[in-house]
Amino acid sequence: MAKPADTRTAGRKPAVRATRSAAETEKIRAALAARRDELRAEYDQTLSEITELQRDRLTDSAGDDQADTGTKTFEREQEISLANSIRERITQVERALERLDEGGYGWCERCGNPIPVERLAAFPSATLCVTCKQLEERR
Ligand SMILES: [Zn+2]
Repeated sequence: MAKPADTRTAGRKPAVRATRSAAETEKIRAALAARRDELRAEYDQTLSEITELQRDRLTDSAGDDQADTGTKTFEREQEISLANSIRERITQVERALERLDEGGYGWCERCGNPIPVERLAAFPSATLCVTCKQLEERR
């Protein structure tokens, strides 16, 4: 398979998409899938911590004063909100994988260039390339 010629330097037309090779798409898919698995493991871990906290609350709450109970409730709430945010990130990665199949994922919304695989792996919900992101932040 011939590599597509790099036309990016020729003319900057944001509407025109550069091409992404099948191999690169596979790399993104693998990175996203790995990320999803990581997040799922983290989610399971958090859920078991919640269960543990809940069990602690039930088993050794006899000698607790109000402050202890408060701390435990707080910890549990923290864990639950952590679990929810992980859940949210899993959903983002799953959506990214769907969009990748449709060919609508991994392109900078601002300049139309492909977003590097590494960036997508770290931030599956990224919609801008690093350059454009920095420009946005500077405004
Ligand atoms: Zn860009």
